[in-house]
Amino acid sequence: MTTEYGASYFGVRNRTHAETDLERFEDAGLNAVLHTFSERDKRYYEETMQDIVASSKDRGFEVYVNPWSVGRVFGGEALSQFIGEHPESQQVTSEGQRIAAACFNAPDFREYMREWTESAAGLGADVLFWDEPHWFLPEWFEEEFADDEWGCRCEHCQARYEDTYGEPMPEEVTDRVQEFKADQLMDFLEEMMAISREEGCENAVCLLPSEDADHGLSDWDQLAASEYLDVLVTDPYWGVFPEAEGPEEFVGYFSEKVADMAEEYDLRGQIWIQGFRLPAGSTEEVKTATRTAIESGVDSVMLWGYDGCKSISDIACEEPEDVWNGFLEEVQAAQE
Ligand SMILES: [Zn+2]
Repeated sequence: MTTEYGASYFGVRNRTHAETDLERFEDAGLNAVLHTFSERDKRYYEETMQDIVASSKDRGFEVYVNPWSVGRVFGGEALSQFIGEHPESQQVTSEGQRIAAACFNAPDFREYMREWTESAAGLGADVLFWDEPHWFLPEWFEEEFADDEWGCRCEHCQARYEDTYGEPMPEEVTDRVQEFKADQLMDFLEEMMAISREEGCENAVCLLPSEDADHGLSDWDQLAASEYLDVLVTDPYWGVFPEAEGPEEFVGYFSEKVADMAEEYDLRGQIWIQGFRLPAGSTEEVKTATRTAIESGVDSVMLWGYDGCKSISDIACEEPEDVWNGFLEEVQAAQE
């Protein structure tokens, strides 16, 4: 049964303004919040974020913190200074092109992420939320790539591949390359989740709503079986995935998958509802999606993001207030 309802919160680093927002979330019946923690936040707003997290805890919220676009390998609308400072840690495509995303296998990025994890846990979060970790996806970049271009094939990945299989890493994607990518991503997550656990936090991993290795992991069981995982999550944003038929089918399919797997692996299940980039007249879709997720029996249903992302003009819904209110109406109806 769904008992947790929340939204992601970002862009406000003024404590007084954040307090005001948290208060209205509480009044609206939410009991969870996800605070984004970008490279910029880690560098300049660590104590501010400790205070904002503490205010959230004071109100009884379950607090999630995510590596917002850190290294540009997680989801989010934030930039990365790390990849500018560490060109040797960038992912390299099969055509030898360096891209603006860090490699999970680059030693400096691993070190940076260990520091991020300790810092994020130190904010007082309940759960670290590993959001859409993925290898190179051409559609996440503005430049053009060859049809079959893939990544990462940097020197660190090539060395690890050769260590693992005793043969050079091929230039084309093979089943073994896909297996390697999934295993390496898992290895990265396991290391970070172990640190998180040691620091007293739980772990949530949000997989993209896709079952191919390019988008994360094709075999979700590999993740669900991890001893460090507490919450299995996906974000079936029907408006951005071309294969999605509509909120009912798309959200329904992935909500049931998460609910079933959570039960099987003794985890909590969480579903995110699209609250960004929606055209006018989408409020009924948001309500349907929210209801569908709640009825699937997942433990937690969250909206990305608060106020229909009104403050991020690039991804704001055309009618952000209506989207937000539609989500809240369904949450309130479920609690009655
Ligand atoms: Zn690499």
